[in-house]
Amino acid sequence: MSWSERQHGMLRAMGLRLWPPPAAAGVAPAAPPGPNLLSAQLAAAPPAVLAAPPPAPLVPALGLAPVVRAASGIGQMDWPALRDAVAGCRACTLCDSRKQTVFGVGHPQARWLVVGEAPGEQEDLTGEPFVGPAGQLLDRMLAALQLSRATDGPAPPAQRVYIVNTLKCRPPRNRNPQPDELAQCEPFLVRQIELLQPRIILAMGRFAVQSLLRTDEAIGRLRGRVHQYQGVPLVVTYHPAYLLRNLADKSRAWDDLCLAASVAEREDGSSP
Ligand code: URA
Repeated sequence: MSWSERQHGMLRAMGLRLWPPPAAAGVAPAAPPGPNLLSAQLAAAPPAVLAAPPPAPLVPALGLAPVVRAASGIGQMDWPALRDAVAGCRACTLCDSRKQTVFGVGHPQARWLVVGEAPGEQEDLTGEPFVGPAGQLLDRMLAALQLSRATDGPAPPAQRVYIVNTLKCRPPRNRNPQPDELAQCEPFLVRQIELLQPRIILAMGRFAVQSLLRTDEAIGRLRGRVHQYQGVPLVVTYHPAYLLRNLADKSRAWDDLCLAASVAEREDGSSP
């Protein structure tokens, strides 16, 4: 995607800066290899967190997800049935602490699917994903590409985004999702993707990326290229909550969004 004046204006509105400046460079600078997300988080973490045991490996546990899906009938559900199934789900202990489930938001014909991690406090209260500070940053970044989660108005499907999380319930005190919780919840995400049939998936953060791509690779090593999820192009990027703490990676996240936009444009041009 080329860097028009409009896009530079949008970048400025988001508080992002290109370096070197466009007048000097003419094009967006090539991003240096991204840092290892986990090491960056550990470097910023207080000593108590550094002393915590390493997280349980996620990818092996996700082998359970297809079994859950087959046993539950989720793979045959339409949107209303799926929504009801999520609302009534008691498959893991998160149902005991949640205020409500957070199914997802967006137009059912949206061409973009954005996948995050799990609801936080605001999302648990409102029932909508990404409504807190991380969500506001996400909305600003999407708006810079004229994309929106709105379900009404005249926007064409190509400008509509559906937003979901890998977990539909808030983990207590916003702790990391556990492998068994992800395995239990994943069939809902898989069915959402089947029903939506997006042209592009933007996977934000470690848990979305590891679930969808079944890999333990760090985000910094996966971003910058186009992956595939069941035949749908998938672009990896940082989680907006991480970007709020790591401003230096914002411009890399913007590069990721531009990559996703160029794939979406190409896909839209090649299929009805
Ligand atoms: N972070 C997420 O990953 N999802 C939300 O819905 C909110 C914050």
